[in-house]
Amino acid sequence: MARPVTLTEAIALVRKSGLLDDGAVKAFVALIRRQGFGGMTPDGFLARMAEDELLTPFQAKQLSEGRWRGLVLGNYHLKARIGRGGMGQVFLGEHSKLRRPVAIKVLNTNLADDPLAKARLVREASATAALDHPHIVKVYDIDAEHMPPYLVMEYVDGLSLQAVVALTGTLRVEAMALCGRQIASGLAHASAAGLVHRDIKPANLLLDRFGVVKILDLGIVLLREETSHLTVDLDGQPSILGTVDYLAPEQAVDSHNVDGRADIYALGGTLYFLLAGQPPFEEVGTSMRLLRKQSTDPKPIHRLRPDVPEDLSAVIAKMLARHPADRYQTAQEVAEALAPWATPIPGFPEDLFGQLAGAESSDEFRTKVKPNSPGQPQVNGSSVHAMLPSSLVPTDPGIELSPVCATRLIVTLSDRSLPTEVGLPYSKIDRKQAQSVLANRRRQYRIAAVVCSVLLILSFVLAWALGAFARPVGTATSNVYQARVSFPE
Ligand code: ATP
Repeated sequence: MARPVTLTEAIALVRKSGLLDDGAVKAFVALIRRQGFGGMTPDGFLARMAEDELLTPFQAKQLSEGRWRGLVLGNYHLKARIGRGGMGQVFLGEHSKLRRPVAIKVLNTNLADDPLAKARLVREASATAALDHPHIVKVYDIDAEHMPPYLVMEYVDGLSLQAVVALTGTLRVEAMALCGRQIASGLAHASAAGLVHRDIKPANLLLDRFGVVKILDLGIVLLREETSHLTVDLDGQPSILGTVDYLAPEQAVDSHNVDGRADIYALGGTLYFLLAGQPPFEEVGTSMRLLRKQSTDPKPIHRLRPDVPEDLSAVIAKMLARHPADRYQTAQEVAEALAPWATPIPGFPEDLFGQLAGAESSDEFRTKVKPNSPGQPQVNGSSVHAMLPSSLVPTDPGIELSPVCATRLIVTLSDRSLPTEVGLPYSKIDRKQAQSVLANRRRQYRIAAVVCSVLLILSFVLAWALGAFARPVGTATSNVYQARVSFPE
């Protein structure tokens, strides 16, 4: 879609998007006309609409890039992008009449036509809609026949536990227990309804500003066996059902025959991560990690975090028992086992969100963490990067890692003349891979730059040869001028 070149085109895009009714557009145009619009560019016009809060910065940016489709989905307006997952993107939205904020998961265009992807979305919606619990994200609406299909959920104003640890460091014992107890009670409710989540991990657990944790993505994995082509990773390799770092040993062997105890194992791994900043097994390579899970127990958490009482360490070790029969048998038992440490602590979670208050955020809702920057969050004396796996710690000058909504990192190489960045799933990159992806990007940019320069030179030569060099420029200028002075009513 073409970027608007004239104000008339910019106004037409706003109208086509359906974000504002005609009266609001007319009133704004009249206002701008009264104030004098001389020299205003389409981008400036859209930015002004954002300043006046008629559009959000995200909407203004999309329109200035010519993207007007899909900013309104049924009764919902998309206001900002808050995350990306394997299936699609997640947006902060608002019901056009009720004005209630919602989170909207929109299927990626390459999956929008895929009946299995749609079935998975419908399954996620119906499985979640069957539940009603304060620690499980609620589903409000779904339109699987829309292009692209989308799912509307309760919006959680906060961060995933993965992002919390990446940005502010490991949690205090009580904070971990408070989170763990809430998740366990959500799981107990799901289990009573006959559901096994099968993908409990820090990235699927959202902590809001009041300290409430909510489970995301419930039910998705129930269809994974039927949609094997949907569970391939970036390299096109079939992925394991669940997430390797938190997967129960029995789920790695047969993910179709697991029960709630697999979720208890994954929750144990999650709590371990919240305290240690790393999952229980850190071996390089998926197979090595899976092998170690089957054959050994993880290092007790109190050996990594001496402030963790041995009794609590034993609770987490029991959740992480290799054999389901040796674990707690129900999530309710886990909630009770964590209760003695789940005592409210002053400053949680306010301090944690306070640490992030100064962080830069964009329409992608991402928070940049600059290596060695003076304002870098420190927790227990360790920097954020100490919480990342060692293979990701950016010691190379010019490489910047930014946790993005927990599941992805933006890797930026900014030490050269042409900064580039690439988003990759958190679990799937190491520095070498990031460098090679960035090097490829850089090569592509260079080739594109050379091709564009050659084409530009050729077109000048051709225009000169045809003697038509002056006319098109004059016409274009006058079009722009005409467009600027004639606002539609
Ligand atoms: P995957 O297939 O990898 O599980 P997905 O496509 O199902 O991914 P989600 O993991 O559900 O996508 O969401 C991606 C990100 O969007 C989350 O990590 C979270 O940051 C954000 N997000 C999702 N749902 C909500 C919500 N209800 N409220 C706030 N943020 C959300």
